[in-house]
Amino acid sequence: MTQDAILRIKNAIGGGKVLTDRKSLLEASIDNSRYSFLPDAVVKAESGDDISKALKIANEEKIFVCPRGAGSGCCGAALPVFKGIVLDLSAINFIEIDPTSWTAHVGAGAINSDIDKTAAKYGLMYPPDPSSKNYSTIGGNIACNAGGLRAAKYGVTRDYVAAITAYIADGSKMELSRPLRKFAVGMNLKDLFIGSEGSLGVIAEAHLKLIKRPPFKQTTLAAFLYDNAAFECVQKILQANIMPSVLEFMDAQSVAAAAKFKGKNMEKSAMLLIELDGEKEEVKSSQNSLEKILSTLSSGFETADDAEPLWELRRCCSSAMFLLNNSKLNQDIVLPIPKTVEFFDYFKDLGSESGLQTPTFGHAADGNYHIHFMYDGSDAKQKQKAFLAMQKAVEKTVELGGAISGEHGVGITKSKYMNLQISDAEFCVMKKIKNALDPNGILNPQLRYTSQVDISKYAQNKDIKLPWDKR
Ligand SMILES: Cc1cc2nc3c(=O)[nH]c(=O)nc-3n(C[C@H](O)[C@H](O)[C@H](O)COP(=O)(O)OP(=O)(O)OC[C@H]3O[C@@H](n4cnc5c(N)ncnc54)[C@H](O)[C@@H]3O)c2cc1C
Repeated sequence: MTQDAILRIKNAIGGGKVLTDRKSLLEASIDNSRYSFLPDAVVKAESGDDISKALKIANEEKIFVCPRGAGSGCCGAALPVFKGIVLDLSAINFIEIDPTSWTAHVGAGAINSDIDKTAAKYGLMYPPDPSSKNYSTIGGNIACNAGGLRAAKYGVTRDYVAAITAYIADGSKMELSRPLRKFAVGMNLKDLFIGSEGSLGVIAEAHLKLIKRPPFKQTTLAAFLYDNAAFECVQKILQANIMPSVLEFMDAQSVAAAAKFKGKNMEKSAMLLIELDGEKEEVKSSQNSLEKILSTLSSGFETADDAEPLWELRRCCSSAMFLLNNSKLNQDIVLPIPKTVEFFDYFKDLGSESGLQTPTFGHAADGNYHIHFMYDGSDAKQKQKAFLAMQKAVEKTVELGGAISGEHGVGITKSKYMNLQISDAEFCVMKKIKNALDPNGILNPQLRYTSQVDISKYAQNKDIKLPWDKR
C-alpha cells in the first residue's frame, strides 16, 4: 500500500521530487535528537500544490507523513518513527520584504538568519534567533514556536507570525489570519498551528512581523568562580531594570568543554554572555549599571563592540559537550527565575549522585536552560542512571512552577513527561482538535496526541554528521 501511495505521489507531483535512495532516506531519518528512523520515501515539495497533492494521496492511502524543515529539532518531532513519508519543505524558500507594512512574506523553507539579513537591508529586524538560526527553517521555527537568544527582550516566534498558509491532512488549503495590523475574524487558528510541531497541518508560507533594527549594541563576556554567582548576577541585572537583548548562561562544565573543543586553555568558570542593544545613549547607560554589578559579582569581564569573538564558546556548546561523553540526554526546561539556584543545587546533586556530567547552558533572562546528563551509550547502567536522573530533574522543574519545554517542543523525547504538566482535561481537548484536523492521524503519528515512544529503548546515531556539527 505504501509503495502504491509513493507511486501515486510520483505521478501527481513529478518523480524527481520523490526520493527513495539510501542517502536521502538516511538524511531524513535523523534530527538533532540523534535518534534515527528510516522513512519509506522523502517527498521534496516545491509548492503549496505539491504539499496539497501529496497530503491528499497520503490521507486516502492512510500513509504517515512527517513534515520536515532542516531537521535541527532537538526532540525527534520530525522523525518517521513509524515509517511513511518525510515531507521536506526546505525547497519552498523565498523571502520578500514589505518595508511599508514592516512584514516579510516567506516560504516555509526560508532559513531564519536569511530572513533577518534580508530585513536588515531595510533597517528592519526579525528578532527570533535560535542558536540554529543559520540552519533552521521558518516552518520548523513556527511549528516549534522557537525561541532564541533575544527572546527575553523581544519575544519568541509566536510574537512575530502575522499569518500562515497551511495545508491540513486531507490536502485542503488554510489561510490563517492575514498580514494586517489588526485581524478579528473568527477563531484564532493561526496560534493553534504555532507550536503544534507539525501535527495539525503543513506550513507552506508565512507573513512575519518585523521591527526597527536597533542601531547600537554592546557585548560583554563575564566569568564567575561558581555557577551560583552567575545566577545571582542574572537576578541582580534584572532587578536593576536592565533587559539585555541576550543574557546567555554557560556553566563551568560547558565552558570547559567548549574551550577544549576550540583548543583554548581556560580557567574552570561559569560565564554570562550579555548583549545590550538600542539607542547608543540608552545602551551606554545600561552598560554602566551592568559593569557596576559585574565588578562585584564576576571574577572578570571583557566588553566589545565586535561581539563575534566573544560568542565563540557559546556557539559551540552543543557540539562540544560530546567531549564529556558520547551520548546526551537533554531537556530545555523553563524555571521561574527566583527558583533558579534551588533547582540547580538539586540538579548538580543529581549529577554527583549518578556520577554523570551535567553541562548546562541557556537563555538566563527567560529562565530557559538546556540541561544535559552525559553518558556512555554502550553502558546500559549509565544510560539507565541518566534517564532516572532526568525524570527527577523534570519532576523538580514542574514542582517549582516551571515548564518541561521552553522552545524545543515535546517531540518523542519529552512525551513521557507531558502528564506532569498537562491535565487529562487539557489532553482530551488537544486530542479532539487533532482529530478534527487530521481524523486519520497521518501527520506526525509519533507525537503525543496518538502515541508515545519510549526513547530509552533506542540508541542515538553518532555516525551521521549533522551540518551544525562542524567546529
Ligand atoms: C545547534 C542548535 C541550536 C539550537 N538552538 C535553539 C534555540 O536557541 N532556540 C530554539 O527554539 N531552538 C533551538 N534549536 C532547535 C531547533 O533548531 C528548532 O526547534 C527549530 O525551530 C527547528 O527548525 P527545523 O527547520 O530544523 O525543523 P525540523 O527539525 O525539521 O522540524 C521540527 C518540527 O517542526 C515540524 N515542521 C518542520 N517544518 C514544518 C512545516 N513547514 N510545517 C509543519 N511542520 C513543520 C516537524 O514536523 C517537527 O515537528 C537548536 C538546534 C540546534 C541543532
